[in-house]
Amino acid sequence: MSNKEIAKQQMPGQPVTDGLRKTRGRRLTPLRRQVLDILLEAAEPVKAYAIMDILRKKTAKSVTPASVYRTLDFLLRHALVHRVGTLNAFVACTDSCEHEHQPVFMLVCAGCHQSREISDPPLYNTICAAMREKEFTIQGGTIELTGICPQCAAAGSE
Ligand SMILES: [Zn+2]
Ligand SMILES: [Zn+2]
Repeated sequence: MSNKEIAKQQMPGQPVTDGLRKTRGRRLTPLRRQVLDILLEAAEPVKAYAIMDILRKKTAKSVTPASVYRTLDFLLRHALVHRVGTLNAFVACTDSCEHEHQPVFMLVCAGCHQSREISDPPLYNTICAAMREKEFTIQGGTIELTGICPQCAAAGSE
């Protein structure tokens, strides 16, 4: 392949984030689409009030907290976003959940508040079984683990 052809293939124009795939074939209302886009662009957990602030800057229409929470609720139900309880924030699903409502582990960095999603159903089931032995039921579909991300670890050891 000539250099020219390679350059042509790498031409920008296609968005890096495949937003359509992220919706898993669902048609989203403009507000749902906007909220999902904000979370996809942020690529890190965002609090509901911060989402509202961004929406208010982007759109002339009035955005109420209730409409933002309803929208987040819809996106959560359809597994397009996850709630990160530790940070009281929301993050776009990185597609590690191939099926809707698949439970995930969410790694949360204590330093920079970035999150990473891990899908490991057998491990999840082991933890749930251990909890059941103590007659505990897990709340929500996400197990959150606080740690230090590689970037923060590198920054700290410098
Ligand atoms: Zn996910
Ligand atoms: Zn970090």
